[in-house]
Amino acid sequence: MLSLKSFAMNTPYFISLLPLVLALSSCGKIEPNTVATAPPFLPNAPAKTEEAIRKDFPGAIPGHEFSDSLIHYLQKKYKIEPDKILLGASTCVDDIIYTKNFHFHPEIKGPFHLGGLAGLPFTGISGLDAFAHHIPDSGTLVLLVEPHIGYSEKKGWGFVLRHEQPEASSCCGALMGTLGKLQAGTLKADLSEDDYQGGKIAELALRYKSEILDAEIPIIELTRITSLSAEKQISAHVLDVSLEHAKYIVIITGVIINTDFSFTDYQYMDHIQIYDVRKKSFVEDLRNPQGLTSAH
Ligand SMILES: [Zn+2]
Repeated sequence: MLSLKSFAMNTPYFISLLPLVLALSSCGKIEPNTVATAPPFLPNAPAKTEEAIRKDFPGAIPGHEFSDSLIHYLQKKYKIEPDKILLGASTCVDDIIYTKNFHFHPEIKGPFHLGGLAGLPFTGISGLDAFAHHIPDSGTLVLLVEPHIGYSEKKGWGFVLRHEQPEASSCCGALMGTLGKLQAGTLKADLSEDDYQGGKIAELALRYKSEILDAEIPIIELTRITSLSAEKQISAHVLDVSLEHAKYIVIITGVIINTDFSFTDYQYMDHIQIYDVRKKSFVEDLRNPQGLTSAH
C-alpha cells in the first residue's frame, strides 16, 4: 500500500492530490457546500417575439416566472416545501433545454430525465418506477411533460439561434425533421433498433397527418400533438408505480418555447393535475391555467 510519503516523492501525483490532502488534514472532514444559489435569469425576449409567442400559446410566461409562481402556489395551497420536491422532466434531449432551464430553484431535487427525442417519455414504466423511488419521504413528485418549439426573431416558429452560431437552426430538430419528411411525403414509421425514437415520432405524425398538414402553422400542431401524446403516456402509468411515501403528484403538461440564446425561454401550461396520494384521488385539474399568479 502506498504511503503519503511515497506519494509526495512522486511529485505530479502529489500535486494533483494536494487540495484533498490539505482539506483532510486541516479540518478532519470536508465541509459540504450547503449554499446553493440560483443563476441570474436571462432577459425577456423582444416585444415582437413575446407577442408572437402569446398569440399561439396564450398565457406563456418566462421560465423563471413559471417556476416562482408554481412553487408559491404549491407552498401556499398544499404546504409543499420546495426542498421536498423531486422534479421529473419528460422533455427533449436537446441541450438547449438544460442550458436555459431547470436552474432557477437549486433547492428542488432533480431533474430525473424521463424524456427522449421531442420529449416523449421513452424511459417508459421502468423509468417512472425508478424515479418514484427517489421521491423524498412525504415529498412531492412534480412532472414536467413538455415538448419544445423554437421561435427565432429572424426565422419564426421551428427555429432558434443558438450560442456561437451565425444562423438559426431547427428546434425541435426531431419534430422539424419529421415534419419536413411528412410534407415531402417521404415519412415512414420504421420501428427499428437503429432509430427507435425517430420511428415512434414518425408513427405519431403519420397518425395525425391531415391535422398537421392542414394547420396554419404545422410545426405548432405537431408540437401540440406530441405534448398530448406524452401526457397520455405518463398519465396512463404514473399511478401504477410505488408512491406510498409521497404526498402529492403534480403533472404539468405544456410546451417549452425556446427563444434566441440571449433571451429567456417561455413556458406554456396546457394542463395541471394534482394527485393526493393519501386520498387516492385528483384534487385539482386545471386547463390552460394562464399562470398561477392569480391564486396567490
Ligand atoms: Zn428537441
